[in-house]
Amino acid sequence: MTDRETVRPSKQEYFLLLALAARTRADCLGRRVGAVVVRDDRVISTGYNGTPIGMPNCSEDGCHRCANRDTDAYPAGRGYDLCICVHAEQNAVLAAARFGQSTLGATLYSTMRPCFGCLKEALQAGIAVVHYLEDWHVSPGDDDAALVAQYAALRSRFQQFTQARIPDHRLARLLAGERVGTDE
Ligand SMILES: [Zn+2]
Ligand SMILES: [Zn+2]
Repeated sequence: MTDRETVRPSKQEYFLLLALAARTRADCLGRRVGAVVVRDDRVISTGYNGTPIGMPNCSEDGCHRCANRDTDAYPAGRGYDLCICVHAEQNAVLAAARFGQSTLGATLYSTMRPCFGCLKEALQAGIAVVHYLEDWHVSPGDDDAALVAQYAALRSRFQQFTQARIPDHRLARLLAGERVGTDE
């Protein structure tokens, strides 16, 4: 790659960059995530994780589960039914509902591989394609075989379900807004 080569994001990179931008607004003591729902190459909604509208932020003790995460009470991966935080992917799908945008046949871009809950909700909302940046793995002891199988079954229902990669050096150049003909 030469310095004069166009550094223009592909469509997939473009929407993932928007998901990364959404992530900057995340207010959750857990992992920060951003998501974008796209239909016909147009963004119809965005989301990031945090407490519901009108509730104290997660960083302001708004979520009991998050405030006590990784403690004996709530080890990693446990007690999510007690977590008040809405996930980025959920928020993106719910924002579409809130403003009357159909998610049928849409593509979901997320900065992280959707969790079990988000995956089933995305499927039920008619999301057809999922692209995500970061992967995660269930911790040993939490890899319940039935859940793993059900996650795989859900995942197989999407037309595409892929991990995307933007190498760090490319991400830096994209964000710097470099373009062809820098001597102009
Ligand atoms: Zn939280
Ligand atoms: Zn989720």
